[in-house]
Amino acid sequence: MGLVSDVLPHPATGELFPSPVPPGTGWPGDPATEATPVARRAAQVRRLAARVGLDELDARVSVCRACPRLVRWREDVAQAKRASYADQPYWGRPIPGFGSSTPSILVVGLAPAANGANRTGRVFTGDRSGDWLFASLHRVGLATQGTSGHAADGLELIDTRMVATVRCAPPQNRPTTVERDTCSPWIEAELGLLAERVRVVVALGGYGWDATLRSYAALGWQVARPRPRFGHGAEATLVGEGRSVTLLGCYHPSQQNTFTGRLTEAMLDDVLGRAAALRTTG
Ligand code: SF4
Repeated sequence: MGLVSDVLPHPATGELFPSPVPPGTGWPGDPATEATPVARRAAQVRRLAARVGLDELDARVSVCRACPRLVRWREDVAQAKRASYADQPYWGRPIPGFGSSTPSILVVGLAPAANGANRTGRVFTGDRSGDWLFASLHRVGLATQGTSGHAADGLELIDTRMVATVRCAPPQNRPTTVERDTCSPWIEAELGLLAERVRVVVALGGYGWDATLRSYAALGWQVARPRPRFGHGAEATLVGEGRSVTLLGCYHPSQQNTFTGRLTEAMLDDVLGRAAALRTTG
């Protein structure tokens, strides 16, 4: 295991960073500064998520320390490192949303991967799920390139933003219910800031589906009864603030789903292509 004081070069910029990366030290895409306020308890998450713009929200997310188990895990992984990435610094912090700040399409996932986004500092970047997702987004015209290796690779999403429901990498990819609820003010605030423009939400897996329904309900939006059920290609309409949003279900591009053929490239393209079509016609 490495030491906190060890510094290693960023794979793109060559700049030296310790793991985890201190805020405001030059990591590509780091939204925070040394002065960004840090939430250390659930009540502070709720307070710091309220009444801020998107850039400041991203910054506050990226320094949050409100879930002791997740903070310990993400930082332990950042210091221990997977052998294949032992020569790289790890971000080791929460992962804010990535993409357009005025998107028509929002993609909602579960949580960052321990050696993916927790290493690169950008959601879905640097893991197999992201490889599938960004390739598909590129094929349907929602990303400027089909690969995503690190946070300085020039990738831009087109009219699209991606967020994780829980912003820190959890052990076994399983946040507890308390951790999910502690983190919920961040995604609710983000949805609230984006609500004016978003027309389509793509939920990756049942976790993203439930989180989207819960978050919109918390914002006062109406959800059809009976509650819409998740499935690949499932669609539901959410109504609020004088507008509507189409929720699309998509199997998560996890290795478990892609290796077994439960999710194919064509199936992923179908849902993301439908989202791309709906953003202009929906
Ligand atoms: Fe903060 Fe969310 Fe991470 Fe918990 S999971 S520490 S609330 S960013």
